[in-house]
Amino acid sequence: MSLKCWQVIKHLESWARPELAENWDNAGLQVGDRNQAVNRIVLALDVETDVIDRAIAAGADFVITHHPLTMSAVSRFTTDSWLGRTIARLCRHGVSLYALHTNLDKVAGGVGEILADRLGLTDLKILLPEGEKFYKLAVFAPFEHSEAVLKAMCGAGAGRFPNYSDCSFQSRGIGQFRPLAGANPFVGRIAEVESVEEMKLETIVRKRDLPAVLSAMLEAHPYEEVAYDLYQLENRLPADAGLGRIGRLQARLTAGQFVSLVKERLGLTAAVVGGRLADRIETVAVVGGSGATLAGKAKIAGADVLVTGDMKYHDAQEAYRQGIMVVDVGHFASETVVLGELCRRLRQAASEEGWGLADGDIYVDDAFAGYMKIW
Ligand SMILES: [Zn+2]
Repeated sequence: MSLKCWQVIKHLESWARPELAENWDNAGLQVGDRNQAVNRIVLALDVETDVIDRAIAAGADFVITHHPLTMSAVSRFTTDSWLGRTIARLCRHGVSLYALHTNLDKVAGGVGEILADRLGLTDLKILLPEGEKFYKLAVFAPFEHSEAVLKAMCGAGAGRFPNYSDCSFQSRGIGQFRPLAGANPFVGRIAEVESVEEMKLETIVRKRDLPAVLSAMLEAHPYEEVAYDLYQLENRLPADAGLGRIGRLQARLTAGQFVSLVKERLGLTAAVVGGRLADRIETVAVVGGSGATLAGKAKIAGADVLVTGDMKYHDAQEAYRQGIMVVDVGHFASETVVLGELCRRLRQAASEEGWGLADGDIYVDDAFAGYMKIW
């Protein structure tokens, strides 16, 4: 059986989970069919006409980009616009398009972390940590079935912390109900109030595991109508993702030495420097893409300099007032570094999960080098 689009998506989303994406973002499947067969995967930072040309020519049927095809609501898809023509072309050639955007920025092994690694930073921390949301789930099950229900829930991911599994609390009590006409009760008779010895099983569930846990719970529970409470908690799991990274250089550098290092590591001939020049640089914050407005946050976190893209004049002015230096390497250069890691991950999954794709069937199209250059 050939590899399907949804299998690749499932693998990607188990890592760069969709709920990490910002509310304004449009990450996910952009164009295509989740059940489509996948024979060749192309990775690129942006979807452009020439990227699609080369994908079609190479027989690729799945294009994965960092930036979504569009971020705004579109009301018509006709070939009068570039967007409509692009969508029509992708459909005509059976090419699906998927974007990993702000979820890829934040996840471990994503844009921020790879950019920091490229600059040789160590002791990495998340600049803006985001702990995962989780839910409290309490279900009432007849005593003899409670163990099986709890086992099914934990098997699907309930009660899991980073270093603990199968966490739950159980209390014994009496459940009461009256089956009405039309019911098919597991115990009790129509129109009679029934009391049953039950266990209340309480556990926590990460948001990402919720659908699987609820369906496992309902599957394992003997009752026709399962009584359960589900509510979102204010407490969060320890952060394992978030925007930007902050870390230390191996040795202290001057501002000039640091800018040279950044250019060399990212293969640039130039970089724009703003804010207030640092005398000595040891602690460095990085934010892929447009992160110049986070200079103040980087300063508070202890950074001597922020490396990012898209700095405007007034961002530099604000950074100057905050007393931090900013190195703008360009949006493209700050993000394109992640594509190699994405490729490595997918090739590894192809080999471990038996996707039937050779390494050459998953590759980065780096011929498109962004929209801006310093000439
Ligand atoms: Zn970007």
